[in-house]
Amino acid sequence: MRERTKLVTLGRDPERYQGLVSTPICRTSTVIFPTLAAQRNARAHDDLTYGTHGTQTKFAFEEAIAELENGYRSIAVSSGLAAITLPLAGLLSAGDHVLVTDSAYFPTRRFCDAELSRYGVETTYYDPAIGAGIEELVRDNTRLILLEAPGSLTFEMQDIPAMADVARRRGVITLMDNTWATPLYFKPLDHGVDISIHAVTKYIGGHSDILMGVITTTKELHDRIRERISHFGDTVSPEDLFLAMRGMRSMAARLDRQQQSALEVAGWLAGQPAVDRVLYPPLPSDPGHALWKRDMSGGSSLFGVVLGEGSQTAVEAMVDNLELFGIGASWGGFESLVTAPDPGRFRTATPWHGPGPLLRLHVGLEDSADLIDDLAAGLERYSRTD
Ligand SMILES: *Cc1c(COP(=O)(O)O)cnc(C)c1O
Repeated sequence: MRERTKLVTLGRDPERYQGLVSTPICRTSTVIFPTLAAQRNARAHDDLTYGTHGTQTKFAFEEAIAELENGYRSIAVSSGLAAITLPLAGLLSAGDHVLVTDSAYFPTRRFCDAELSRYGVETTYYDPAIGAGIEELVRDNTRLILLEAPGSLTFEMQDIPAMADVARRRGVITLMDNTWATPLYFKPLDHGVDISIHAVTKYIGGHSDILMGVITTTKELHDRIRERISHFGDTVSPEDLFLAMRGMRSMAARLDRQQQSALEVAGWLAGQPAVDRVLYPPLPSDPGHALWKRDMSGGSSLFGVVLGEGSQTAVEAMVDNLELFGIGASWGGFESLVTAPDPGRFRTATPWHGPGPLLRLHVGLEDSADLIDDLAAGLERYSRTD
């Protein structure tokens, strides 16, 4: 089966549910067993045992994602951030060292600095473009390398196969935040990565109305991570799992459309005099284009724009008055969004340069011509405000 067909068929079994087209919402805390022996022999995560380990709704979603990511099995968790923090907390111990890309999602970084440090785990941030050079940073106690490509604020690509190769040779686990590429456009496990995570909140959910994460691993790591995560008591609601699966059904159609619009908007922006550069690996002018083209089969609709020199008042005049781009966190939904982050505030391994401010745009399902009109008026306000 091809990818687009899988998105429609995986996780559904009408015969099992009296013809219901989608796997229903199965709610429970308690599971009743006919005998004590049956209860004793039931295996959590394979059989129904107790609500926190999930019901049919959760198992169906996890099986679908595992197949899409070419993993052994997947584990749904309560948020995208939990899909990062739970494996880190579960796999690392006092005295361990972890390597994290300087371009990582900011809350990932905050977790390493504020929480892992309390448990005696040391973090080193590395240049996202380091490639096989990561080997020089691997120490005897390095247990895990965290990858994210492209970075979700600054959009640097990473040489994932080269870095995964170093990690394998040195006995280091790799975890990749694959949210940007979605399971449709990149398969980390096919490139040697051990753990792939997604914020389901973004394109898989697709409608800005759920929070969820999912973790997919190799066979070697699955049992270890599953057991550790169950110690933390994380759970996912069956309603949210149902919505995640509903989002998955239309994900390919949304992404195809949003990618096309993003290319149009990003390409247009790149030609505007008020714009210094556009950070979007699918554009041939992007420094990460060659890696993106080699490894990924598409791009999602989140990218950065570095403006030419301008004041804070000018950015506010531009952004506050946009009509179609909501000012807000998150992305991957049906609607366009904008934020104005400042990566210079927290990067430590590599400096952040821009003559002007950075805007992060998420292109939704609106008509791209309307989005361009909105941004054209915005850039005009930017240029004429001191
Ligand atoms: C949003 C996001 C997350 C976290 O997802 P939540 O469900 O909001 O916790 C993780 N990684 C990346 C790259 C994200 O953009």
